Amino acid sequence: MQDTLRATSAGRARRRPKTYGDERVCAEGECETRLSRYNRETFCFAHSPAKYRRMRGEFTAEYSAKQHS
Ligand SMILES: [Zn+2]
Repeated sequence: MQDTLRATSAGRARRRPKTYGDERVCAEGECETRLSRYNRETFCFAHSPAKYRRMRGEFTAEYSAKQHS
């Protein structure tokens, strides 16, 4: 039991985590947030596509323009 446990953790420690590059920043044009080399996303947390879709600038601008006309 203990041998198995030790072997598992040793194997995990030796295994290098996949990295995605050291000097990556968020793919959002103006955003300079550094991305972790372990983060496989191309956007920072704030600009990750799932959230980004919900707050599209175009929609907001168009919507408020309609409200004012
Ligand atoms: Zn960003």
